Amino acid sequence: MSLPEPSSSGRFGEFGGRYVPETLVPACQELEAAFREAWADQSFRDELDGLLADYAGRPSPITECHRLSAELGVRVLLKREDLNHTGSHKINNVLGQALLAKRMGKTRLVAETGAGQHGVASATAAALMGMECKVFMGEVDMERQALNVFRMRLLGAEVVPAMSGSRTLKDAVNEAMRDWVGTVENTHYCLGSVMGPHPYPWMVREFHTVIGKESREQCAKLLENEIPDVVTACVGGGSNAIGIFSGFADTTAELVGVEPAGGAAVGRGVPGVVHGMKSYLMQDEFGQVQEAHSISAGLDYPGVGPEHSHLSSIGRARYEQVTDDEVIAAFQLLSRTEGIIPALEPAHALAWISRDRAKLAGKTVLLNMSGRGDKDVGQMMEILG
Ligand SMILES: *Cc1c(COP(=O)(O)O)cnc(C)c1O
Repeated sequence: MSLPEPSSSGRFGEFGGRYVPETLVPACQELEAAFREAWADQSFRDELDGLLADYAGRPSPITECHRLSAELGVRVLLKREDLNHTGSHKINNVLGQALLAKRMGKTRLVAETGAGQHGVASATAAALMGMECKVFMGEVDMERQALNVFRMRLLGAEVVPAMSGSRTLKDAVNEAMRDWVGTVENTHYCLGSVMGPHPYPWMVREFHTVIGKESREQCAKLLENEIPDVVTACVGGGSNAIGIFSGFADTTAELVGVEPAGGAAVGRGVPGVVHGMKSYLMQDEFGQVQEAHSISAGLDYPGVGPEHSHLSSIGRARYEQVTDDEVIAAFQLLSRTEGIIPALEPAHALAWISRDRAKLAGKTVLLNMSGRGDKDVGQMMEILG
């Protein structure tokens, strides 16, 4: 059993909705209808499952971490999304959206990207399906992530600097939406997380439920109790977390999302509207959206998907915060004990396990290893020397 559908207006409790300019309402409605129809069509599901298996490399395994578990006194299992093609969970969503876009007769994808990971995944799916791809990226991020800019261009995408505001991720989202308004006839906006206007938070979640579904089946074989005591994941927009949570929402497993202390929308935010949705949001005293700051560019988002705001408000999931220093230690810990270099994003979830290991003693924790650390090795070399 997975998580319920949002209401007809796209709400999870009081959160979500569709706060977009008039000109975008028909595009959102068209997308919602197309997704609903495709998701109910077994041939669409089969085609996507085929791509996930033969192109992305699913199912991803679960790895039991013997040495790490001995060191922490907590039994840690990793869901290995880092082993997917392009190195993270993001491929699940972009293959789903690109296939849907094609079915809708669109020939072009636009996407936003922060660190470049979603841009690379989108460019990958576009190359695979022979579609045009334009990626908006904050000018500041383009300088910081030059390698990913080159990767996207290699994959045939056009990368356009977002020059407004702070020239980072939130500005890239605004410019991608603006492009979509003017090009909706032939273009699909391939949004990278469980955020934005309805139907995105729901649709992106559904494309990532494969993580939870596989995990549930794998845990049933692996664990005596069939379900772990705790399921944890890092939360930026919240897509990898909702994907794995969806497989355990109907169980007794505790669901724990981990945010960076400098971008803790659930932990420190207040309800507000941004990027077409109502959700918790980091705002200053004047109601302006605040910049998020964390060691991991992939979690530098001031908002969070509306379903996480809802799960927090009803108490079904809880959200913890960790500091950059705790993340750096966790990054090294997993590398040293298991031979797995994690991306800095899922290192947040491990940092929480490590900090709370006394409270978690003897428990079994399933951690969504959302991505591999290759992209972060250069940054860590500078920090660790
Ligand atoms: C993009 C990214 C994230 C953050 O996105 P969510 O939507 O919160 O999952 C986390 N981990 C990795 C490896 C990423 O690339």
